[in-house]
Amino acid sequence: MTDFSELFGRRSPTPLPGAPGMVTSPAIVAVGTRWRCQRCYQWVAPADRLPNGDRYCRTCLQLGRLTTQDRLYTIPEPNRFPRLVSGGCTWRGQLSELQAQAATAVQAHAQAGHRQLLWAVTGAGKTEIVYPALAEALRQGWRVAWVSPRVDVCLELAPRLQRDFGGVEQCVLYGGQPVAYHYCQLTICTTHQLLRFDRAFDWIVVDEVDAFPLATSPMLQVAIDRAQKEAGSCLYLTATPGERLQREIKQGKVAVTYLPLRYHGYLLPPIQLKISWRWRQQLRQGRLPMGLQHQLNRWWQARRPFLIFVPHVADLSVVAAVLARNGLSGGTTVYAADPDRQAKVQAFREGQQRYLVTTTILERGVTFPSVAVAILGADDPVFSTAALVQIAGRVGRLASDPGGQVLAYCHSNARNVQRARAMITRLNRQGRRQGGRQC
Ligand SMILES: [Zn+2]
Repeated sequence: MTDFSELFGRRSPTPLPGAPGMVTSPAIVAVGTRWRCQRCYQWVAPADRLPNGDRYCRTCLQLGRLTTQDRLYTIPEPNRFPRLVSGGCTWRGQLSELQAQAATAVQAHAQAGHRQLLWAVTGAGKTEIVYPALAEALRQGWRVAWVSPRVDVCLELAPRLQRDFGGVEQCVLYGGQPVAYHYCQLTICTTHQLLRFDRAFDWIVVDEVDAFPLATSPMLQVAIDRAQKEAGSCLYLTATPGERLQREIKQGKVAVTYLPLRYHGYLLPPIQLKISWRWRQQLRQGRLPMGLQHQLNRWWQARRPFLIFVPHVADLSVVAAVLARNGLSGGTTVYAADPDRQAKVQAFREGQQRYLVTTTILERGVTFPSVAVAILGADDPVFSTAALVQIAGRVGRLASDPGGQVLAYCHSNARNVQRARAMITRLNRQGRRQGGRQC
């Protein structure tokens, strides 16, 4: 018997002949005088035509070209899953009291079908906070997606969910992945991959909702809406919600659960501002700001691992060369398109590298024990307020070593830096009210 599950809740240009309940629609439809793609819901530009006159969608081209000749096929999601005791959850960890309170609230909103946000500071353990709600959802036979705009986040998350939800079948989807799609109850994927789904999920968890490119992409926002069933809902996770989401909280359009304290009960490390107004010129002359150089020497001698964030890829090799010349051996550089990125990050995590010079690629989704952080050029516009708060959040994540420094070197006390420091101060004020301790 042919397996038609390939099309359950999916939208594919390839039909499966004889599939019961298969429905079909044109891939690109005329709306008035315009054309709209039915996979990514974006308008097709008038110029996007093939030589034979057919329209095609340029926006979702990377998922395969759709033209006015194509059709999309789907089978409405039947939730054909085996019954799971305890929702397939094999996690044996314990939530703290504050985490447990947040978890209860998240589960209640999920069960009520509310669109919701879990606003938890970096290091609050937000993944585990979602576990009780996830277990209950899976136990009830819901189809669930855990998605993120960042492939790194998906790759870090997938082995954790495979370990902690060992009883449920899962698949991981991202562009260029090695394993093919198969129908299963829990899907972990990039937000881009949601474009291939249609009303498939009862619940979608959107991890790092404020991260690039989701925050600036209407296409991906629509993808989340369309991948959800009509009666489905979603949960956004972030430590740093953007302005739009914060506005929706105020307007009551999204339910919110706050967790202003890290799982170990210590407050967030503040960002220390270091004005060094000629750092760019100094770098050109092959030097770092004196204070930064001294600090890096101290960390290096104390064998404390550290991250140095720089604004641009071009700055990486320059800074690395200065450090090498000053005798700070054992470090390397990393950036988004670096082919060895995963290996370098892993080597640093295991202590085989003593420091990393990095772009904002490591701003979130990564945990390194006992790390210290310096940001060179924190006033550069590439460091958004959210990015700076996330970067600071790399520090002090272990209960056994909750302290650590975050130093921001900049020409001036720019607005992004001011706002990031103010956000941390505000969160720590709330954290203190919940019994948070200073390191
Ligand atoms: Zn499209």
